[in-house]
Formats: sequence, C-alpha cells, structure tokens
Amino acid sequence: MKISHHLDDATILAFAAGTVGEAHGVLAAAHISLCPLCRSRVKSAEQIAGAILADESEASVSDQCRAATLASLDAILQAKPAQPKPKSDLPLALSRILGDVSLRDIKWKTKAPGVAVFDVPLSKGTSTKLKMLRLGHGRTMPEHGHGGDEITLILKGSYHDRFGRFAPGDVADLDHEIEHQPIVDSDEDCICVVAFETKAKYKTLLAKLAQPFVGI
Ligand SMILES: [Zn+2]
Repeated sequence: MKISHHLDDATILAFAAGTVGEAHGVLAAAHISLCPLCRSRVKSAEQIAGAILADESEASVSDQCRAATLASLDAILQAKPAQPKPKSDLPLALSRILGDVSLRDIKWKTKAPGVAVFDVPLSKGTSTKLKMLRLGHGRTMPEHGHGGDEITLILKGSYHDRFGRFAPGDVADLDHEIEHQPIVDSDEDCICVVAFETKAKYKTLLAKLAQPFVGI
C-alpha cells in the first residue's frame, strides 16, 4: 500500500496527547495502523505530549487520565500494523468496533443513486460522528465547506479533488476552512470513512436541499 496523503501535525499531536475527538481518534488510529510514517510521527509526538501532560498535570490533567491516555496510545502503537483478520478487511481500529466483518458485510443504507452510508456506532454523548461512505464511479460530492475538522480515510477505490488523488490508506485531513469537491475516479466503488464534528455546510441551495437526503 503506497500512502501519499497523511495526517497533519495538529492531528498527530492531538492524537498523541489524547485530546482528539472520538471519531477522529478512531480514524487516526486506523490510518496509523496502516502507515509506518505516521506511526513514527506519533511516537515522536508522544514524547512532546508526555512533556506537555507532565507540565499541565497539576492544573488540568489528573494522573489517572494521563496514565489512561498513554496506556491507550501504547496499545495502538504496539498493535501489529496492517494485519487484518482472515475475514476482516477493515483497519484494526474499525474492526474493534464493528467486529470481524468485511466491507461486504456492512449494512449500507442507500441514500441516492451511487451513494450509500453506514454510521459507525460511537459512545453516547460524543460530539463527533464517524460515517462510512460508498460512492459509485463518477459520483461527485456537492461542493462544501466544513463546520469542523474533518478527516477522511480511503479504504477501497479512489477519488480525486484539487489536492490530488486519494487511494486506499490515504487520509484527507482538512480544517474547517477548506473546501473541496471529491470525484470518484475508480471503476469500483470508492469506500471511505469520514470523521467530522458537525454537519458539512453545503454551498448551493440545491446541494443544501439534498444534504438531508445524502445524509452527510
Ligand atoms: Zn500517514
């Protein structure tokens, strides 16, 4: 797997510090399990985050919380990378939630021709969402800006936008000011998983009307 697009520095640091939202944490862990480069970046960031947490421990971070953060990070870093179970073709962080299932087993909900979605269950009360998308060839997402930080991980197929081509293992780690318009360019369906904080804000009225229909 040749990975060309990686997590940005802010996400790597937040992940190492344990301050990333739940959906973004699962998605970052999924990418990190596939990507040796980001794994080593997290290890470096862990040392920085450890120093920050040590400095702030008396003010805002309890010893218990810090220990839990670093223990969960260790568990992810020590997990064998890219070793799906015989049946599962999902990254480890996703199969931990969904079980030993393959992409074929996902209970997709068709939202529009060529668009199907599946909500990955997260903790109650989280302000983040994790959604799997299956988009047909040539499918163009409505142009949109983002209401919050959004990370997309490609699991199958590919798409391109003004930032380049995104294939399995690649992540699009976008802040809320970025606008893009991905177009699926693979013959097979493009399956990706998206972590976001709030609903995307679509630009055009038509797209706005379609947003509840498409459901992202
Ligand atoms: Zn990476």
